[in-house]
Amino acid sequence: MIKVTLLGTNGWFDTPIGSTTCTLVQTDNFVVILDSGYGIYKIKEIVDFDKPVYLFITHLHLDHVIGLHVLDYFEFKQPLRIIAPLESTEALKALLKPPYTTDYTAHPYEVEIISAEDLAQHQFPFEVEALPLEHVVPDTGYRLTIDEKVIAFVLDTSYCENAVKLARGADLLITESGFLPEKTGKLFGHMNPVQAATLAKEAGAKQTLLIHFGGNAYSTIHRRSTAVATGREICPSMVMGLDGMEVIL
Ligand SMILES: [Zn+2]
Ligand SMILES: [Zn+2]
Repeated sequence: MIKVTLLGTNGWFDTPIGSTTCTLVQTDNFVVILDSGYGIYKIKEIVDFDKPVYLFITHLHLDHVIGLHVLDYFEFKQPLRIIAPLESTEALKALLKPPYTTDYTAHPYEVEIISAEDLAQHQFPFEVEALPLEHVVPDTGYRLTIDEKVIAFVLDTSYCENAVKLARGADLLITESGFLPEKTGKLFGHMNPVQAATLAKEAGAKQTLLIHFGGNAYSTIHRRSTAVATGREICPSMVMGLDGMEVIL
């Protein structure tokens, strides 16, 4: 069984309705975490720390990595593998040291940082593909195949060819709605719900969860649901992500 739990569905900053981006994927044998916004603190009560944990980072904007500051809070019993986004390994290593936070080599557990460029040289208990997306800084999308189920994680990007490739036929596409539907035209670095729905439809994703709702634009759940309704006209199966929501694959 694969259980996906949304721990943070906001972009940019936390609000009373959401923490910044973090998605948890639990299986019988390992744990995957996608991005480390402040939602990551919630794994403390959920995750079985005896299992190996793989933490994938899409990019280094702080709403996706600020939760790395609380790695001290967890008691990983196996080495923690952090997958650095494309073109970002050295910057991530710098962030994981003083004066920003505890040195990643000084935790009571081992932390291994793996560059997204080098995924093929490492053994994972699942298949993984990484492709660059379109954002204002280097940004990486991931496609994971776990027990023949495909999860695509496509955040902080304009609609682009690589987004479609990663999401092709996915059992679950987790993507973003940084912008409101009123923002139209060629948007750079994010999508609105209509563009996200177009991506889901073009890729033939079986289920689509929308997250990364900009903290400013989406200040209430009502604003989220109104916006998501515009996307559902194109992709009727698209679901508004909320913190705490679970999907079983
Ligand atoms: Zn973001
Ligand atoms: Zn970003």
